[in-house]
Amino acid sequence: MPMNEKQEMIIRRALELGLRAYPVKTAGIPVENRARIKCEYGCRGYGKRLSCPPHIMDIDEFRKILLEYDKALLLIGEHDMSHEPDIFRAWSHLRKESFHKMLELEYLAFREGFTYAQLLRPGACNECDVCAEQCRKPELRRFPPEAVGINVGKIMDTVGETFVFCDPSDIKCVGILLIE
Ligand code: SF4
Repeated sequence: MPMNEKQEMIIRRALELGLRAYPVKTAGIPVENRARIKCEYGCRGYGKRLSCPPHIMDIDEFRKILLEYDKALLLIGEHDMSHEPDIFRAWSHLRKESFHKMLELEYLAFREGFTYAQLLRPGACNECDVCAEQCRKPELRRFPPEAVGINVGKIMDTVGETFVFCDPSDIKCVGILLIE
């Protein structure tokens, strides 16, 4: 099957899983150093998760790696959680559920011949209650786009999606699947 058809098949599977998927060129993915200050100064989870800074590659290293890709899919799961009294608990559940759907797409892409398919997951990894000194499930460890400097709001703008903070009626889980 030609590569474009394979990509279409991955998009169809994303839709079946309840995700929206947009093809994007990796050259158009904005990577900004300033994203890191939001991790280091203000995130209450800083240093706690092995999927996030300071436990992952730095932004410059990711920039170099991104240059070796050409195509990606922006993946979005959207949820109305206005009925949920504990939004942090809800976010924990939603990002885990979305992650597993997106990971299925990474596996599918790999099986279809995109050897270097790699998911950047929605939010920090929460496969375990707490991280150990060494990752307990390294096969599931993925980092989020913002953790390597991707300006998630900007990349969403390019496909006509909006990213709204602090609105429980519009919670979006955002991942990026680097394809080839
Ligand atoms: S798999 Fe577990 S130990 Fe590894 S990064 Fe995720 S939560 Fe932390």
